[in-house]
Amino acid sequence: MSGVIIPDAWSRRADELKQRVADCGTDKKKLKEVLDKNSHWARLRPSLVELAGRKCWYCEGAVYNSRPPVDHFRPKSGVVGDLSHLGYYWLAYEVSNFRLACEFCNSSTDDAPTGKRVTKSYHFPLLNPAARLRMPGTDIEREIPVLLDPVRQEDCELLDFDTSGSARRNVNRPRSPLERVAGICRVEESIRIYGLDRPGLDTQRAGVMKEIGWQAKYLDGGLEEFADRIRQLIAPQAPHSSAALLALRSRRDLAAVVDHFADELGIDPSRGGILQAEAQTVSDLIDAGVLKAGVEVVGVAEFGEVPALLLPDGGFELGVRSYATPTSAARAATGSPDVDGWDFWHIAVASGRVSLSEIRREFNEGD
Ligand SMILES: [Zn+2]
Repeated sequence: MSGVIIPDAWSRRADELKQRVADCGTDKKKLKEVLDKNSHWARLRPSLVELAGRKCWYCEGAVYNSRPPVDHFRPKSGVVGDLSHLGYYWLAYEVSNFRLACEFCNSSTDDAPTGKRVTKSYHFPLLNPAARLRMPGTDIEREIPVLLDPVRQEDCELLDFDTSGSARRNVNRPRSPLERVAGICRVEESIRIYGLDRPGLDTQRAGVMKEIGWQAKYLDGGLEEFADRIRQLIAPQAPHSSAALLALRSRRDLAAVVDHFADELGIDPSRGGILQAEAQTVSDLIDAGVLKAGVEVVGVAEFGEVPALLLPDGGFELGVRSYATPTSAARAATGSPDVDGWDFWHIAVASGRVSLSEIRREFNEGD
């Protein structure tokens, strides 16, 4: 998470508290005591508001509370559905885990099985639950979260809104092979758990989208006056700015406006929304957001299983060495020249395992 201004004094105190958390080991009672007494994360609120305005990072609704909650993306004190998990307590004072939330999104009254409303609170499902971290010391990137992360651009691009303001999946970003094999749609789960379909949000989004259309129509006449208002609506600090951006992008008749704001939109107007090209290499799949660097892959051999890590350049880290391609890594792992790395390496998801060759085939063939 870049751009957050972190005062030195805040950092020093956070470091002290991280040490106190570390000193607790896995003693649940001691951890609870430190976390309950030291909500130091909340003191970074002004910097988070400064960065992204008075809006909730999950639902993008305006925050009217003068002290909006600072939520932990990875919950600090427990995980829904995993009773033995203590929560990601070691990330309690880690800025990269902070998200500004509205009361609703931060609230803890939830639980789908009981029929009560669902909110994020302690939910943190994974596409690869076997890789869930239980203590510090391992790279968090091994996990593939189900929930869309508001600070990851590639996650934000999965979400779309129809003209009535209802949240839905971007049709140009169909379910990834990993989602299909796990039987999970990250967008549907995020809509359900974040409550992105709750009453009121859709009308707020629709209002913003309507205004964008109206302002953009008149832009040709008196450019700067209307441009200023559009700039306000699409600014990251504005409530429902994603809906405003999507409204600009989605209408053919507004193509000229999209060109006008291309820099602010952070897009290349010539390629927005086009389906991705066919993937050939592991690095293509990482670029397409189908595979994630840092996750563990498992080689399945007759003699047993071999774990390796997927590197950002599409290579494989096996023990202390790294290999450029799946097959070179698979050969090193098995000592056999006859192994195809695409069939050898698998990713574990909720419902079992899926090989890299299946992932690539599914991606290239689509839904
Ligand atoms: Zn919210």
